[in-house]
Amino acid sequence: MDAISYERAADIAGAVRAAQQPGAVFIGGGTNLLDLMKGGVERPVRLIDITHIGGLDGITTLPDGGIRIGALVRNSDAANHALVREQYPLLSQAFLSGASSQLRNMATVGGNLLQRTRCGYFYDTAFSQCNKRALGSGCAALEGHNRMHAILGASTQCVAVNPSDMSVALAALDAVVRVSGPAGERSIPFAEFHRLPGDRPDVDTTLRPGELITAVDLPTPIFSAHSHYLKVRDRASYAFALVSVAAALQMDGERVHTARIALGGVAHKPWRASAAEQMLNGQPLTQATLNHAAAAALRDARPLAGNRFKVQLAQRAIVRAVNQAAGRAGGVA
Ligand code: SF4
Repeated sequence: MDAISYERAADIAGAVRAAQQPGAVFIGGGTNLLDLMKGGVERPVRLIDITHIGGLDGITTLPDGGIRIGALVRNSDAANHALVREQYPLLSQAFLSGASSQLRNMATVGGNLLQRTRCGYFYDTAFSQCNKRALGSGCAALEGHNRMHAILGASTQCVAVNPSDMSVALAALDAVVRVSGPAGERSIPFAEFHRLPGDRPDVDTTLRPGELITAVDLPTPIFSAHSHYLKVRDRASYAFALVSVAAALQMDGERVHTARIALGGVAHKPWRASAAEQMLNGQPLTQATLNHAAAAALRDARPLAGNRFKVQLAQRAIVRAVNQAAGRAGGVA
């Protein structure tokens, strides 16, 4: 059994200072970290408990009309907060589609951002080949069971997907992650927060050593009237996405003024479907335009032996999610 020390941080500065010690990791809700520790995937030397830091567990309005969600806000509290439900229903839906109610009651927003892939080879230390767990060891999923794995943006080193529903909605909403670290505070645009695997699949985010996530900022709500989070999974609850779509529209009559589409379950990070967005922006929302946009979103897909079905599934999910965001019943392309 490994010895682990425990320290309770009283404030942000103390947490950042404590995190400079070798082998230190922050713990909030612990819903993913403790699983990883039990399986021997993560072996921290020091746990820095951040749950008693004041000021990180609230949701407040910003001068530009956006909102700030503290990193320690529990997923269930965020999902059910009036400001989130009314102004960012896409995000509320994404929260409620993730995990179970028990887990949502414990998991924090900051922790959700950092949850690690659910690739089975990553969690099972009996498999020696996993570049995310042991860089340079190989990737068992490439030739193994890869039904749940990536079809976009993967590398020969890792084909894992990001498991977070919340992050897919935050990608579509152009959120900003606020962090505090040894060099001070900084803001990270959401598109730059999670990484593609490249040749460093062991690194999931662009956080620097010792940086603590303090909040997530959402810009002025412009999609509250037309948005939808669609999650396609093997069972109705408590399952990770095969494919998910966060669709947000600003409509001008029957014409799309601005479209935002992000995909989950398809890449190492929440995947913005920028080509599809550009094909929809300024156009009447016809079924033909939407079908073309959905096809464009998957143009660069490189499926594996076990997940070729995801390409068409993602296209159809985009069509359904955008139609539902627009208030239409139409679904299948
Ligand atoms: Fe490990 Fe990534 Fe390969 Fe899964 S896909 S076995 S996490 S390297």
